[in-house]
Amino acid sequence: MSAILVIAEHRRGVLRPVTLELVTAALAVREELRARVEIAIIGGGADALTPALSLEGVDELLLVPTPIDAFQPECHAAAGEALIAARRPRLVLIPHSVDGISYAPAIAATGGHGYASDVSALRCEGADIVATRSAYREKARVELDFPGRQTVVITVRPGSFLPATRAGGGMPVTTLAVPGVPLNSEHCGFIEPEPEADVDVSAAEFLVAVGRGIGEQAMTGEVAQLAGRMGATLACSRPIVDAGWLPKSRQIGQSGRTATNCRLYLALGISGAVQHLAGMKHVETVIAVNRDPDAAIFSVARFGLVADVAELVAELRALFP
Ligand SMILES: Cc1cc2nc3c(=O)[nH]c(=O)nc-3n(C[C@H](O)[C@H](O)[C@H](O)COP(=O)(O)OP(=O)(O)OC[C@H]3O[C@@H](n4cnc5c(N)ncnc54)[C@H](O)[C@@H]3O)c2cc1C
Repeated sequence: MSAILVIAEHRRGVLRPVTLELVTAALAVREELRARVEIAIIGGGADALTPALSLEGVDELLLVPTPIDAFQPECHAAAGEALIAARRPRLVLIPHSVDGISYAPAIAATGGHGYASDVSALRCEGADIVATRSAYREKARVELDFPGRQTVVITVRPGSFLPATRAGGGMPVTTLAVPGVPLNSEHCGFIEPEPEADVDVSAAEFLVAVGRGIGEQAMTGEVAQLAGRMGATLACSRPIVDAGWLPKSRQIGQSGRTATNCRLYLALGISGAVQHLAGMKHVETVIAVNRDPDAAIFSVARFGLVADVAELVAELRALFP
């Protein structure tokens, strides 16, 4: 039986949520690939992470100690190569993150494996893996296959899959030793960014999101109050953040947050660019308001209203005084 190898991402002893999304991706194709799912934890502090990775469908945890505990691209690349040599996986899933993209291409190039980066969907055609990613600056979606490649290495875009949550247990935990490697870089320490997450939009069930179509900054304040009265959380598209009208923590989309828990999404004056839609793919019901009847947002909306945002906001103000 072949294997799907998920490489966990962790920092300072904390598992990064994208790891659980990779597990979902692995479980989605395991049957067609007739593969076991193995999760590798490379680096220090692995013991503390294993409980969170004891998930249904996971067959084995692989612990790969490295000479230094902090993330180090050369160590991860060497560990990844050693894991592939030892387990000969059909598919290797790595987060498309700052860490992931610093070692995944090296693993693929060294081993001559198939490789695709920033993948947002996976499927199989028989025993063949097909990966979807965007191209031409997000203007098109392309599907890639990997003819003749025994192992395929893929970095997965965060937010593309819902996190695996069903606890499992009892899977074997194996420690693998990897040869040391010369280090070309040195980890000097962490610099924490300014805290900005005033709210967690990814966890909200009801989001009212504003886009450039709201026209002026004063409207964000008005919609914020309205959202509060409606029991919703305020979110936005990127131009609103770029204009400094709302903090980055409110941005939905490819370079912002993914609405993973959202049941209702009211989009006000948002065109529906693919980068914004990337953060909305798990939303249950979208209501879109836009004065352009051809706006792309209507293609994902269950209910659409061709109207001026200001007029709708005035109506809602009367309904939610
Ligand atoms: C690498 C990369 C990453 C990106 N990441 C993100 C991301 O994470 N999130 C994100 O949102 N964007 C992201 N973008 C930007 C994205 O491409 C779009 O530019 C952005 O989503 C557009 O935001 P918008 O819909 O608010 O504005 P616009 O595209 O300008 O749309 C405004 C809409 O409002 C409508 N409108 C105007 N006036 C009114 C009115 N009075 N009443 C009703 N409707 C009105 C218009 O018809 C239009 O459809 C990214 C881009 C790149 C290149």
